[in-house]
Amino acid sequence: MSERVFIGVAWPYANGSLHLGQIAGANLPADIFARYHRTKGNEVLMVSGSDQHGTPITIKAEQEGKTPEEIADYYQREYLDCWQKLGISFDLYTTTGTANHTAVAQDIFRRLLEGGYLYRETVSQAYCPRCERFLPDRYVEGTCPSCNSPGARGDQCDACGKPMNTTELIAPYCRTCKTTPIFKDSEHFFLKLSEFQNKLSDWVEKQTHWRPNTLNLTRRYLKEGLRDRAITRDIEWGVPVPVAGFEHKRLYVWFEAVIGYLSASKEWAKSHGDEEKWRPFWEGGVKSYYFLGKDNIPFHTLIWPAMLMGYGGLALPYDVPANEFLTIEGRKVSTSQNWAVWLPDYLSRYDPDPLRYLLSINMPETSDTDFSWREFVRRNNDELVATYGNLVNRVLTLVYRNFDGRVPEHEELSDPDKSVMKDADSYLRQTGELLSRCNFKQAIMTAMSVAHGTNRYLDEKSPWKVIKEDRQAAANSLYVALYVISCLKTALYPFLPFSSQKVHEYLGFAGKVEEAGWQPQPPPPGQKLREPEPLFTKLDDSLIEEETRRIGT
Ligand SMILES: [Zn+2]
Ligand SMILES: [Zn+2]
Repeated sequence: MSERVFIGVAWPYANGSLHLGQIAGANLPADIFARYHRTKGNEVLMVSGSDQHGTPITIKAEQEGKTPEEIADYYQREYLDCWQKLGISFDLYTTTGTANHTAVAQDIFRRLLEGGYLYRETVSQAYCPRCERFLPDRYVEGTCPSCNSPGARGDQCDACGKPMNTTELIAPYCRTCKTTPIFKDSEHFFLKLSEFQNKLSDWVEKQTHWRPNTLNLTRRYLKEGLRDRAITRDIEWGVPVPVAGFEHKRLYVWFEAVIGYLSASKEWAKSHGDEEKWRPFWEGGVKSYYFLGKDNIPFHTLIWPAMLMGYGGLALPYDVPANEFLTIEGRKVSTSQNWAVWLPDYLSRYDPDPLRYLLSINMPETSDTDFSWREFVRRNNDELVATYGNLVNRVLTLVYRNFDGRVPEHEELSDPDKSVMKDADSYLRQTGELLSRCNFKQAIMTAMSVAHGTNRYLDEKSPWKVIKEDRQAAANSLYVALYVISCLKTALYPFLPFSSQKVHEYLGFAGKVEEAGWQPQPPPPGQKLREPEPLFTKLDDSLIEEETRRIGT
């Protein structure tokens, strides 16, 4: 029976290029999951977009002498290009800058206000008398009270990682003009998160299928007790607050960005000519998955569910498979120090599948993992080229050259032959089960073990030698190998969509891998093959040193 699966992927601030940490953390696992479910015949809606609002964008715009729109538009185009090249198959990748998003965010705000979940309160806010404006937290800098580093921001100290309130900074100053801020009263709306404490606790305790990191962090926040949070700020860039007297304030970006999942679904429905098409993905009978890095957990396990509970009638998250972090060459990613591998840069020089492979088999699912160029080259050469690529290439080339470019006829397969095929079936099924539980690393290792096993089988059978004396014996073992390769192109498709599609075509199949379903697709004897080319390219060791040197410069 077909299931409905909603997949939301965390929204990045549109203030810089994407780096590999974001891909390993959220976008790649989401795409793998979506491709698996689509192949299985399930209905999938996968959405995300770029977050155009918030001070990270305005600060970047001021630094570059551009408008926030120009910055956001530039990176939105770059992200779309990256998704296409890396094969991240969003049904819609939009932005928070649309009229649709504003309308949906304001609708949620109004409904929460009517329901009594929002209240007004006057708070003391940093204000720069020289710039004549309120200063959102990132606009105030000063000395960190924890580690004494200069240049700590009003929301967090980059040196020691301590999150803080603007009022805690020692010797605070306006980041634009260096004037010492004064504190002035300002009225804001607050979300009554505290009111959801019990309801959320009851709900979270039922989520025993969540990953330990997601569950433990969420429980810790609940144990500390949920505090009400301001959802408006004194800025001019963002979604307007739909209340008189708040014309110079905007919805706080954390409140409004999570609403993007719903607004994107509605935009997707409209773009398909059916304004109601989003409903089955939000109202009953749907499993909603949210893919994100661990820093985003509480927004998706507490704040967004609280907003949905207050709004009523919409599906709460079913699972929030949060990933840990990907370090680069043993060090934490730092975008400000340029300690990152940037996705557009990678894609300008290398193929997408080798990166998808490494980030999948080395996915930071349960603990931080590391990306290094040495590991990238090793995995590409030893595993993609020498194991999987070599299997596909030697079998297809041998068959293509010796059997008139057609799948050979097999006769009386031996029991060991049959058991190799049966094993391939069962590994395909196992890979699917692991994928359905978001165990991506285990899933790709399971699939790759089939490639290893089949290479051993071929070495024993040596059809390239046997063919001279016993053509039928060679035909049999090559048929078995083709059968396994056909299973592999399905099992590896969510991870390696580009090369799987190629294998699908080399085997003589038409259409897309996805259309064949999550099941073995035996190549019919006599089917015309397409002349194969090597699936992957061996990389030169010299690139390791070259690429490693580029990081951080
Ligand atoms: Zn100032
Ligand atoms: Zn500090």
